[in-house]
Amino acid sequence: MEVFHAAADLVGLNGRVRLELEEPDYEHIFYVTADLNDRLAPIAPAEGARYAKLAASSLRQDALIPLFDGKFSLRPDGLRGADLHVENGVIRLGEKGLFHIEEGKSRRFKAYRVQHNQARGPYKGGTRYHNAVSLDVFKMLAAEMTWKTAIADVPFGGGKGGIKLDPREYSKDELEAISLRYMYKLKPMIGPDIDIPAPDVGTNGEVMAWMFRQFSDGERERHTMRGIVTGKDVKIGGSEGRVKATGQGLAFCVEEWFQDQGLSLEGSRFILQGFGNVGSCAAEILCAMGARLIAVNDADGTVYNPDGLDVAALVAHVHQNRENLKRSVAGFAGGQAISKNDFWEIEADFLLPCALGDEITGDVASRIKVKLVAEGANHPTTPEGDEVLAARKIDLIPDIIANSGGVTVSYYEWIQNKRMEHWTEAEVNARLEKAIKSNYRIIKDISLDRPRRTPEFNSTPFMIGRKIPTRTAAMVLALKRIEAHYLIEGFSQ
Ligand code: NAD
Repeated sequence: MEVFHAAADLVGLNGRVRLELEEPDYEHIFYVTADLNDRLAPIAPAEGARYAKLAASSLRQDALIPLFDGKFSLRPDGLRGADLHVENGVIRLGEKGLFHIEEGKSRRFKAYRVQHNQARGPYKGGTRYHNAVSLDVFKMLAAEMTWKTAIADVPFGGGKGGIKLDPREYSKDELEAISLRYMYKLKPMIGPDIDIPAPDVGTNGEVMAWMFRQFSDGERERHTMRGIVTGKDVKIGGSEGRVKATGQGLAFCVEEWFQDQGLSLEGSRFILQGFGNVGSCAAEILCAMGARLIAVNDADGTVYNPDGLDVAALVAHVHQNRENLKRSVAGFAGGQAISKNDFWEIEADFLLPCALGDEITGDVASRIKVKLVAEGANHPTTPEGDEVLAARKIDLIPDIIANSGGVTVSYYEWIQNKRMEHWTEAEVNARLEKAIKSNYRIIKDISLDRPRRTPEFNSTPFMIGRKIPTRTAAMVLALKRIEAHYLIEGFSQ
């Protein structure tokens, strides 16, 4: 909130508007239960000798769903027709080894939806499935959505939510059951014109499809409800270009920065943290524009190749390889494994943090050797990190503009749903490019105290009268656009 208060002081934000924005409108914390499948958990190697004589059991191939922690989730009918030999709850599965059968249990998960502000339109924001979530994290992320939708100039407010779990520990049918129950509990609080979730870390178009089905199930006018979630598959009302939109928007911002510097992206080198949706799409797009990706760090490893990583091969390794249960860049043959510590010190033109928050600490910021940090992730830089970057004159494209491509195309999806239209990818990208570059230019103008009025954009109403950091400038733009609603519409009592 430091940047919020700094920008609020600079624009002389109305006192009551400041109070409205400091805390969310609503904080929902609730619980979701689901029945989990039986699991097979590998036994400790020391126990193996006790079962030397245990005969092998045979289960259908499709009965076992591998999970990233070495366990298998057993399909509900998984033991049908199986030839089972069990001793003390242990079975042997050919080459796979010895496993304890863990009986499936009902489980309770903590769930959240924070609705931060709706002055400019319905609450809008992603759904995160991750172990490191909390009310504080969602409050911060929901507020970021309020700033981001204002900067993107789409008629939405801000929200965020999700469930405390690691989706890699659950099979698809279990995740479906958990997601359906999540939407069942959310339904009284949201709607296509009230609050519109989207994917975020740990969720994707498939989860959105389940959520749409649950929300609209049995409703007479269910097709008018398609806009209840965005980030859907294009075959069920999603927008062309949505999957890549956040990475695409990030690439447009980076392209604009290079143009501002009079530099060419062609032949530039970058390092990337996070190779999920945002990171992998940004990498593909920037490499197609001529940049070279030389290192990637993710939750489970780091790969480095000074000559450039083959991004298509890396995407195949992480996202199309069913054996790679961690969905990690670790083990990629086209680069050498290095430590995360060494990753930060690689010399490159720019760094894209596209993983989780608070990764660029003061210490990391003092060690990185890049000219630009463009924030694909939400809140990747700590306040100390910001200070160090500024002192070292490393440029920054702040998250609330850099990763706003996702919510911008979510808005296009929502409009297409309302109008029952389908736009082409070229149309979506052309609109996105115009929107994100115009808003980025306004932010640069605020930051440089350079009022400009062009056919595409007008930055003159947002000037502060002196130069300010880019992150503060982005917040100034957000606050001025939000405050206008309160000042013109007034407050309902
Ligand atoms: P994702 O789940 O697809 O990928 C997350 C990536 O981060 C994975 O590669 C994972 O290994 C990596 N990661 C997780 N913890 C890490 C750690 N401690 N160190 C290094 N890497 C780690 O998520 P995503 O949708 O790509 O989102 C990434 C970031 O972008 C998040 O901050 C999210 O809030 C933000 N964001 C996403 C969207 C979107 O449209 N998906 C839009 C705006 C912002």
